[in-house]
Amino acid sequence: MHRHPKLKVVVYFILILVSTIGLSSIMSQIVGGKAEQPQKRKELKLDKGMTVAQFGQANALSASFLKESFNLAQESDFAKKVDEFGTSEQITSLITKKLALAAEHASKKWIKILIKFGLWFTFLSALFKFFKTRAVSSGVRNCLLVIATVTFGVVLGSDPGPMGTVKDAIYLYGTAHTIFPPRMIALSVFLLIVLLANKYICAWGCQAGTLQELIFRINQNSEQKAIVGRRIKLPFALTNTIRILFLCMFTIAVFAWGIDLIGPIDPFKIYNPTHLGLFGGAFIGILLSASLFIYRPWCHLFCPFGLLGWLVEKASINKISVNYETCIACQQCATACPTAVMGAILKRDKKTIPDCFACYTCRDVCPTGSICFSTRKRAVPPADHFIKRG
Ligand code: SF4
Ligand code: SF4
Repeated sequence: MHRHPKLKVVVYFILILVSTIGLSSIMSQIVGGKAEQPQKRKELKLDKGMTVAQFGQANALSASFLKESFNLAQESDFAKKVDEFGTSEQITSLITKKLALAAEHASKKWIKILIKFGLWFTFLSALFKFFKTRAVSSGVRNCLLVIATVTFGVVLGSDPGPMGTVKDAIYLYGTAHTIFPPRMIALSVFLLIVLLANKYICAWGCQAGTLQELIFRINQNSEQKAIVGRRIKLPFALTNTIRILFLCMFTIAVFAWGIDLIGPIDPFKIYNPTHLGLFGGAFIGILLSASLFIYRPWCHLFCPFGLLGWLVEKASINKISVNYETCIACQQCATACPTAVMGAILKRDKKTIPDCFACYTCRDVCPTGSICFSTRKRAVPPADHFIKRG
């Protein structure tokens, strides 16, 4: 098959899709996943003069839930009128929040979540240390992407993932006006990783990101050129505008109508395929096919965490920087970079540097070793650097 590289790409692509969906179906039965569709919240039945017990019965609420929600001290309190605890709006709001939080708790597999965070921490720290001194060959890169995709996606499922911490937080707040504290902790951990090491979590840990990247990398030769078709580097102004508009649309739909626009097309659901509808399946099929030519289309065009991470990335301690004393202005790094980011770094375009996924490609192709991923301050090139040497 090595004589037919295009055929090899197609076969690998099909193999990745089939094995991801097939194995994820099996693993989600064994390990279990969260209910992917957000629970449609029922209208609460609340009539004037109802007792707490009657209210509970009318809305199928357990005694322990009522006890905790209304702070009931003794059994006789169940005979109290609900009106004693506040106006109808206050009661409805209180119970809606409590029900939403109870549903969140019930949908989580805490042991699995702890294992996943433990593995993320170990894997990302090991890679950070390993890549400090070593180049990332294409074989090693693909192996690591497979390991990350299988571990954090196929085996440990779609939840948690960086994107969900932002999307689900907006959905919960928009529909039940509450926040789920463990989700905020998870989001803080992900953002802390971005603050420490750029988009390391997206690059090597996010199950949707590594799958897109793996597909992108199988369609590339040793010169970082596409084997099938051609690479498309979409302008950052376009992708970021779409990403911002998409987040605005998502937020408006949640707050105005309680609709989750991302839910049906969520690419993380590939790891829980039974929750994937026909439309979602078709969308993810197109998205992953596009990944053969475009670097991480979901991350650049739609992902809410991608957008938030891009903002936080600006303050990241470790980032890609160039030593212009030794740089010979060949711009091989910008050509090899799968997105427009290296080009923007070289162009001194400080304000609009796109997302950098800490993939190390630029560093590893630089013939003079002038690029590093470190705490070194990102310098701007001398004004005539590329004119003089270009
Ligand atoms: S930007 Fe991409 S890699 Fe990062 S959380 Fe979103 S889907 Fe995952
Ligand atoms: S090639 Fe370099 S600049 Fe481009 S995404 Fe990878 S690490 Fe970032």
